[in-house]
Amino acid sequence: MSDKQWELETLAVRAGQRRTQEGEHSDPLFMTSSYVFSSAAEAAARFKGETAGNIYSRFTNPTVRTFEERLAALEGAESCVATASGMSAILSTCLSLLQAGDHIVSSRSIFGSTVVLFNKYLARAGIETSFVSQTDLSSWESAIQSNTKLLFVETPSNPLIEVADIKALSELAHKHGCLLVVDNCFCTPILQRPLELGADIVIHSATKYIDGQGRAIGGAVVGDKKTVGEEVFGFLRTAGPTMSAFNAWIFLTGLETLSIRMQTHSARALELAVHLFDHPKVTKVHYPGLPQHPQHQLARAQQDAFGGVLAFEVEGGREAAWKIVDNTKLLSITANLGDTKTTITHPATTTHGRLSEQERNDAGISDGLLRIAVGLESVKDIKNDLETGLAKL
Ligand SMILES: *Cc1c(COP(=O)(O)O)cnc(C)c1O
Repeated sequence: MSDKQWELETLAVRAGQRRTQEGEHSDPLFMTSSYVFSSAAEAAARFKGETAGNIYSRFTNPTVRTFEERLAALEGAESCVATASGMSAILSTCLSLLQAGDHIVSSRSIFGSTVVLFNKYLARAGIETSFVSQTDLSSWESAIQSNTKLLFVETPSNPLIEVADIKALSELAHKHGCLLVVDNCFCTPILQRPLELGADIVIHSATKYIDGQGRAIGGAVVGDKKTVGEEVFGFLRTAGPTMSAFNAWIFLTGLETLSIRMQTHSARALELAVHLFDHPKVTKVHYPGLPQHPQHQLARAQQDAFGGVLAFEVEGGREAAWKIVDNTKLLSITANLGDTKTTITHPATTTHGRLSEQERNDAGISDGLLRIAVGLESVKDIKNDLETGLAKL
């Protein structure tokens, strides 16, 4: 039976499974760095690439391959390359597809380390990046140069949960002979499949929702056979930012529950967003599931639900925001997300603390802004935990 006949929920549980002669039901964990050959001729054929098979776990491991095939099936892609982290997925994509003299146009509202990667390390390798507005398509078009090769976007964004139009960006990219790369970390393929909307490459930090329980670091690059299966794979094979078999095994079990988790994270985040929207002490709520969100219609069109992350603002700046954080007993004060445990972050002094006040203002990150990544606890308990601080404002 071909994987194509299966629904997303089934693919998340079954795709890529390869049973050994032991008849194991759960996916096996292959902890081996190398593999043996039955003869010198077999070894030679495999090294030459004439026959498929395992050689060395920097680039061939059955547990990692099962994870790659399952994630590729979920994104509707031909190929997936698993990496050591989300950041190494982005690095591998850029270093395998770009060279000195090339140019990237990227949304300004991307993960902080991605900004540093582009601005510092890729710039050092002669690859320049222009940063533009997440939501203003005309600013993307005017930033494209004759040497632009790649458009990069993360949607929804962090921490303001702004939604970029993947279909429009892919049309723009292709009109100018560029690739569109989408960091799909916040939605996962359960809620959003960028390749179906025209994107060329999807990036994942498996560390977040794919694991789902905050245990392991990993990433992935997903796309077509030529770009990802050959180019990105070739880089990984040589440079070695490889996902460990053990982490792949953790992520495989994560994928099995991804669908029910994403739906539950989304339902609970929506309930909390509605509650905060009606709260007298809250001045603004950023969540695309609310009809008041500026890209609500777009999010409805390109996502199956609105995800687990929201942000809200209170009056009184940093002092008020910190009061809410410091009065929580249940919520975890940490910048991580995609966990069963709800987390609370004050972006202005943590994830975005390295920006100047002017840069933060330009990015819309006020001192009274808090980000919540809604976990799987009872929403009632999350509301009560936030209320202790809110009531003191
Ligand atoms: C965390 C994150 C990354 C980086 O992933 P790591 O696994 O931490 O390297 C990239 N993009 C987004 C949107 C993230 O949230």
